[in-house]
Amino acid sequence: MRLKGKVALITGAGSGIGRATATLFAREGAHVLVNDVDAIGGEETVASIIKQGGEAAYLQADVTDPDAVASMAAEAIRRAGRVDVLFNNAGISGVGMLHEIEPDAWDRVMRVNVRGIYLPSKHLLPHMMARRSGVIINMSSCVAEIGLARRASYAASKGAVLALTKAMQVDYAPYDIRVNAILPGTILTPFVDRYLKTSYEDPDAAIASLKARQLSGELGRPEDVAQAALFLASDEARFMMGSPLYVDGGVVFGKNA
Ligand code: NAD
Repeated sequence: MRLKGKVALITGAGSGIGRATATLFAREGAHVLVNDVDAIGGEETVASIIKQGGEAAYLQADVTDPDAVASMAAEAIRRAGRVDVLFNNAGISGVGMLHEIEPDAWDRVMRVNVRGIYLPSKHLLPHMMARRSGVIINMSSCVAEIGLARRASYAASKGAVLALTKAMQVDYAPYDIRVNAILPGTILTPFVDRYLKTSYEDPDAAIASLKARQLSGELGRPEDVAQAALFLASDEARFMMGSPLYVDGGVVFGKNA
């Protein structure tokens, strides 16, 4: 019960890493506010948490829409009284070399992955500042640290998240708010399934090439990232500030040849 009595809002919690984190946080005693633009996925996450005896509610919003995010933040405060932990997890992929990417596709990746962190934080930080307490976790990626083929827009967005995390930490440390980033490697979620289908003809070759760039013989699971988020959300991480936390099977710091 490492989050007993805490309220956690997780964006993009209708699938993958967000869902696994919502499930784990609820099991650890948190009241979880499940955001997703996709109502079916969001409601499924909530139903499964409630079935397991946890506490959760769905808050619909597209994290890129200022009005929708303002309403979501107001509704979160109205329902739960406060938000102790904001996990800015929602994100989309972007595939292609820079010259292949159309402006609309570029903007879409930056909007969801960067503006989608700015807006929920903007609306919830004043409440955290007033209470002089709070935790924000921003979803970056190991792609922010290493060059990976055909990831220009995605890498730019996740690098921006890492820089934003450090800037936020400096500004909000005086209010006793901690802001950290998670940098996953390849985690098997619907996000990666889609990428594998659109980028490779042979699924076995795809998995082999993903494994070749890491030290672990296995790809990551959503639960691996959820455990990292749990640590950052808990009081045990009280001395973690502005840090990138890698959950990547050795992609960033390892070389296996
Ligand atoms: P996923 O596609 O399984 O889940 C993402 C969820 O975000 C979906 O439910 C989707 O509906 C929601 N979402 C998308 N746009 C949204 C919006 N505008 N507003 C609200 N919700 C929105 O993906 P995942 O693999 O669980 O990824 C979660 C996060 O982790 C993303 O930020 C992703 O970039 C990051 N990440 C994933 C991996 C990986 O290998 N899976 C690696 C590094 C980083």
